[in-house]
Amino acid sequence: MDQLISGIHHVKALSGNAKKNLEFYAGILGLRLVKKTVNFDAPGVYHLYYGDDIGNPGSLITFFLYEGLVTGRHGKGMLNTTSFSVPLPSIGFWTERLKRFKIPCKDPEERFQNEIVIYLEDMDCLGIELVFNDKDNRKGYTGLLDEEQAIRGLYGVEIWEEGYERTAGLLTAQLNHRLISEKGNRFRYAAEDSPGNYVDLVCSPESLKGLSGSGTVHHIAFATKDKNSQQLVRKKIMERSMNPTPVLDRKYFSSIYFREPGGILFEVATEIPGFEVDEDPADLGQDLQLPGWLEKGRQKLESELEPLSIHLKSYL
Ligand code: ZN
Repeated sequence: MDQLISGIHHVKALSGNAKKNLEFYAGILGLRLVKKTVNFDAPGVYHLYYGDDIGNPGSLITFFLYEGLVTGRHGKGMLNTTSFSVPLPSIGFWTERLKRFKIPCKDPEERFQNEIVIYLEDMDCLGIELVFNDKDNRKGYTGLLDEEQAIRGLYGVEIWEEGYERTAGLLTAQLNHRLISEKGNRFRYAAEDSPGNYVDLVCSPESLKGLSGSGTVHHIAFATKDKNSQQLVRKKIMERSMNPTPVLDRKYFSSIYFREPGGILFEVATEIPGFEVDEDPADLGQDLQLPGWLEKGRQKLESELEPLSIHLKSYL
């Protein structure tokens, strides 16, 4: 039988200015904007999805853009770093590129074997890493950068907890993850041992508690095949005496949410139907897309949202 959870689906973060966000992720990082929509639960703000050419699960980072949102704080009980997978030989290219766009970053460090990590932050101080490795077979989005340099998708995430055990218990017992490796206070879990799936639990009892706000992650979503497998996961979560939400329609996938023992919001999202339900693959991300129930208010919504555009050629 297929595993109920296949890996990471997406990471969702909170940020401020939409244009700056677009410039960082589609421009500097060279990801594809695969969907431009609004927060379905509070439609006055953009919801932007970035990923590979069609927004495959495991390639996606998405943002709610709240201009003027109070700044959050990294800390324990929070997903503090989202990492992207890049080809090992492209380290010189990326070091130069970050310098060219005046993005401060830490010196490269080797974490696990054949895994060189550079830490940086986006315009809202969201923790980002580029992980240079030679084990990613995905193609990534090559609309802006060449295949030798382009981000292949997510690599993994780093979660800080008081202690790793209870979250690890949920990951292994209910979400079919297993321990892949460990080093010091870092414990790496994954549903499958390949880039795009790694969940690093870092024991950080001495750190302050994280505070939600701009520049922090709102939740991580794990991928499941379809609504049937999602129901099976939901049942397992309930058997652990946790309270998952009912299934919610997110148009591009359906979702359930629940809080893991350390306080971080987890989601389980279906791999289908994907981002081609309302746009052709060639046009993904071009026009503002709304779910049916918001269509009648489109004109008002569009007049309230800052128009978004980017001159991609200046990021070549
Ligand atoms: Zn989500």
